[in-house]
Amino acid sequence: MPQAVVHVLFVIIVLDLFRDHFLKDKRELPLHYIFIGGIAGLLPDIDVLLFWILNNFLGIGVPWFHRIFTHTFLFVLIFLFISLIYFDFNRKSSKLFAVIAFGVAFHIFLDWLLVGGVAPFYPFSGSVFGLNLIGRLNLPLAVEGLEAFVLLWWLWHEEKLHRISDFI
Ligand SMILES: [Zn+2]
Repeated sequence: MPQAVVHVLFVIIVLDLFRDHFLKDKRELPLHYIFIGGIAGLLPDIDVLLFWILNNFLGIGVPWFHRIFTHTFLFVLIFLFISLIYFDFNRKSSKLFAVIAFGVAFHIFLDWLLVGGVAPFYPFSGSVFGLNLIGRLNLPLAVEGLEAFVLLWWLWHEEKLHRISDFI
């Protein structure tokens, strides 16, 4: 995985930019939904925690697994499906699960783009895809540089648009 902070930060920034520039009514996407989206951006790596609990806490020795079940289109579709179920009678929950689906999808996208590969069609196909930009460019610090750059740019954007320094 790229660092956890990259997964959280990028989802929050993308959702916030969408809210600022594409939504006519910002109340359609409350800020705490964006926060939850950021947490969902970490959700696929829950398999690391699960592995640790199984092995170290429950003492069930399982072979190492990561980026299998939770890094697939199927995992994204679960949240989209729940969003659709809610659509007719609970718009808020429907929106929330759509945001979670986006966070999860963006995580898989970043893993595909930056480090190693993912097998998005699992369990139907084990084919692995990935641009592996960080690995290929052989720049271990590239992600850190990138996240700092993106964070600074976003803060500048927030300052211009919302004058956030007034609240500090
Ligand atoms: Zn991951």
